[in-house]
Amino acid sequence: MSPDGHPLGTLCVLDTQPRALSPAQADGLAALARQIQHLFELRRYAIEQRRLLSEREAFAQQLESAQADLQRRHDLLQHSASHDALTGLLNRSALAQLQDSPDAMQRLGRAAYTLMVIDVDHFKQVNDRHGHLLGDRALRAVADAVAASIREDDIAVRYGGEEFLVVLPGTRLATASEIGERIRQRVARSSLPFALTVSIGVAGGEPGRDAPEQVFDRADQALYRAKASGRDRLVVDDS
Ligand code: GH3
Ligand code: MG
Ligand code: MG
Repeated sequence: MSPDGHPLGTLCVLDTQPRALSPAQADGLAALARQIQHLFELRRYAIEQRRLLSEREAFAQQLESAQADLQRRHDLLQHSASHDALTGLLNRSALAQLQDSPDAMQRLGRAAYTLMVIDVDHFKQVNDRHGHLLGDRALRAVADAVAASIREDDIAVRYGGEEFLVVLPGTRLATASEIGERIRQRVARSSLPFALTVSIGVAGGEPGRDAPEQVFDRADQALYRAKASGRDRLVVDDS
């Protein structure tokens, strides 16, 4: 019998001629039947354990893949919150976060650094003459020129419609000017159905001497001078 009272089978002893079971033999058969009952129970228990185990493994795998999926979505969301969708560069809110990040500010506080502001020349005309789609392509070309010219440690931000900021930690003005000049030339060479140029202003910061906001202002003034003196050029802050 099963523990819940179902008859499972009958234990028979056969011989070539009729016999009567002695009480000891009947007891022996009953003991054998109980043993078989226990073996059945053990087997059922083992099967149930295996089933539970494989269920648990499947569940753990599901959990693991759900966690990986969640992490992917989180990374994607974080990336899209801090990056500009058009150019793939950091966006303005990422710049604000950098300003609030002690790590990033410490990096600027360790050595001389340079800020570079880049503004597309006559970009309103590009949009007016060639349409917004080509205007957007031009912005991507500028972002590509920037990304191709800087190092991994440098920070490139699209902080306005057609305005970009590049932070070059541990980089002096002379080196930064070379990098800026490379960006300017790359933009001028980009394969677009019209001429595209940028003006660039660069200014250097010394930790302990300059606040980053002041360096930014000086870079912006240098950019203004680049615009005023004919555009398509890089001007270094000399103050
Ligand atoms: P300047 O040489 O003095 O910088 O002239 P500009 O025409 O580039 O400057 P202005 O600030 O007058 O014009 C900027 C233009 O950038 C105006 C706006 O329509 C365009 N713009 C801003 N964001 C985007 C964008 O995401 N896509 C496109 N296609 N155009 C944009
Ligand atoms: Mg502008
Ligand atoms: Mg402009």
